[in-house]
Order: sequence, then C-alpha cells, then structure tokens
Amino acid sequence: MYQASPQRYARMQYNRVGNSGLRLSAIGLGLWNNFGDYDDFATQRAMIRQAFDLGITYFDLANNYGPEPGSAERNFGRIFAEDLRPYRDELVIASKAGYKMWPGPYGDWGSRKSIIASADQSLQRTGLDYFDIFYSHRPDPNTAPEETAGALDQLVRSGKALYIGLSNYSGPQTAAMLAIFKQLHTPVVIHQPRYNLFNRQVETTLFPTLAKAQLGAVSFSSLSQGLLTDKYLKGIRADSRASKATIPFLSANQVAQTLTTVEKLNALARQRGQSLAQMALAWNLRQPVVATALIGASRPEQIVANVQALNHLDFTAAELAQIEQILAA
Ligand code: NDP
Repeated sequence: MYQASPQRYARMQYNRVGNSGLRLSAIGLGLWNNFGDYDDFATQRAMIRQAFDLGITYFDLANNYGPEPGSAERNFGRIFAEDLRPYRDELVIASKAGYKMWPGPYGDWGSRKSIIASADQSLQRTGLDYFDIFYSHRPDPNTAPEETAGALDQLVRSGKALYIGLSNYSGPQTAAMLAIFKQLHTPVVIHQPRYNLFNRQVETTLFPTLAKAQLGAVSFSSLSQGLLTDKYLKGIRADSRASKATIPFLSANQVAQTLTTVEKLNALARQRGQSLAQMALAWNLRQPVVATALIGASRPEQIVANVQALNHLDFTAAELAQIEQILAA
C-alpha cells in the first residue's frame, strides 16, 4: 500500500498560473512517452510515486499518449486507482484532445463532436470524474474557433474539467480564442508550448500575448527530448529515446547536430554546480510567464535529479550572455 512521503511539500516550489488562483509545481511530469503498453508497468508506477513524493502535483496526459494511443491514460488510471485516489485533491491532472485518436472524421482536431467525445473517452480510460485542466492540443484550421472554444467551455459547465488550456496555438490564434473565452466566461488559464534552449520562437511569438492576457505557460519538451542532458555526450545508449524503435521523434542525426553546442552548455552547467538538465529547466523557469517546466522521464532517478534544478534557479547576466553566445555559434 503506497503512502505518500510526509515530506512531499518541503522542497517543491509552486508557481501561480498567470493571474488565476491555481498554483502548479515548478516541475511537472509528462506521460507522452514511457507510460505506454510497451513500457514496464512497475517503472511507471515507481516514477509516478517518486514524482508525487517530491511534491510534483502536475501530471500531463493526452488522449493519444502511449503507444498504443490511450494506453498512457489507462496505465495512469490504474496507478491512480491503486496508489493516488486518496490524494485526488492534491493533484492537477491534465489531458488533451486534438491529435489523431480514433478512425474516421471525428477522431481528431477541434470540432464539438471530437472534443466532447474525446474528453469522455479520456475520463473513462483514467477512471477520473473530472480533469483539472483540459487542453485543445492543437488549433483546427477547418473549425471555427467559436466551436472549439464552445466545446471546451461546455466541458467546464458539465463538470468534466475545472480549467481550460491551449497547446500549440500561435500568438494570434491564442488571442482569438481568448476573446471568445472572455465572452463565455471560460476559466482558461494556461498555454502549453514547446520551449527549451533549442526552441525559443515562442519568446517573441507567444509569450507577450500570454503576459498581456495574464495567462501562464507550461513548457513541453523542456529538455528537447533528452538532447539537453549529458546523456548523449558519449554516444547513443541502447536504452535512450534516440535509439528506441517505438519512439520515432528523436533521431541520431539530431543528436549529432547538437553535440558541440551541448558540450559547451554542459561545461557552463558544471561551472554553475549543476547538471545540464538542471540548468535547462532553470533557464525555462526564469521566464515569468512559465509556471511549470514539464519533464519526461524513463526512470525515477531522472525525476530526482531534475527536481534538484530548484536548488539553483537564478542566472547572472554573464551566464545568460554566455548561453546566448553558445546558442548563436
Ligand atoms: P523532455 O524534453 O523532458 O525529454 C524527456 C526525456 O529526456 C526522457 O524521456 C529521458 O530520455 C531524458 N531525460 C530526462 N531527464 C534526464 C536526466 N536527468 N538525465 C538524462 N536524461 C534525461 O520531455 P518530452 O519531450 O518527453 O516532453 C515532456 C512532456 O511534455 C510530455 O510527456 C508531454 O506531457 C508534454 N508534451 C506535450 C506536447 C504537446 O503538443 N502539447 C508535445 C510533446 C510533449 P530517455 O527516455 O532517453 O531516458
């Protein structure tokens, strides 16, 4: 029988999401990879327990996470039922709809039909009564924003979600949705963009919109899928994401192309007395708009190491300048 650590709130930092009342753990755990049916269930459970024991309250899902699509929600649901149910009110559990989930014209994108059916499926798979945050996973170019926003609003009105989020929407697309949510009085509080040392476009294209609207952000792929760690400095290990046939999103080419930059960033992180992963997370969290840096993990030790980023979050002007130089080279 799992008992959460009595120390779980001793070290974690909780950041307010925009101007909402919601605070999220500065580090959140994402279940996109390593929580599917091909992955060891005991390790999945150990990671979730480890995360919560360290004060991570934000767990990030989507309908299609796996593989197979849906299996991450099912596996999380099992762990929730067996371990976490007594702690439901200490958790922020998010899911999303928008990417391909089931065959036919209603299995993806942002119609009212897709969003509401997908949320119902996600609730069934996880066994939850409601999601704390429900996201539109991507903008739908063929559905009016009013329809997608209206469907998300209905999820809140019908008790299936507490807060609404957007993911992968551009600045202007976000502004258009926010105008509709304002009319509907929808509790939209957060945006989930890709943001890390290698992917900084949102600094100029999205963050100003979020800051103006007083929305928070949660960064995904904060470690660029593992590139922003020291794990590839000595080659590609067999148990790493870049070598896994079940995960096609990170290639050996990307590892090779980034190696020189990663070596320099790693040296700077060492000078700061932390690992590259810890520095990369601290760098994301330096943005006032970023409430949470999401991490993926394949083993509990990575979660322990990454949460220690919080021991050294501040940067000197010289360090920030050095990072700019390294990235520009
Ligand atoms: P990261 O960029 O955090 O990469 C995670 C991978 O980095 C891990 O699987 C692990 O790789 C490696 N890693 C993590 N910590 C360490 C460490 N300390 N030392 C060495 N290696 C480490 O995240 P993801 O790309 O997985 O994204 C995180 C979450 O963001 C997802 O789970 C999902 O919830 C969300 N997301 C959302 C998207 C969206 O469209 N909204 C898109 C993508 C992600 P390895 O497996 O090799 O050990």
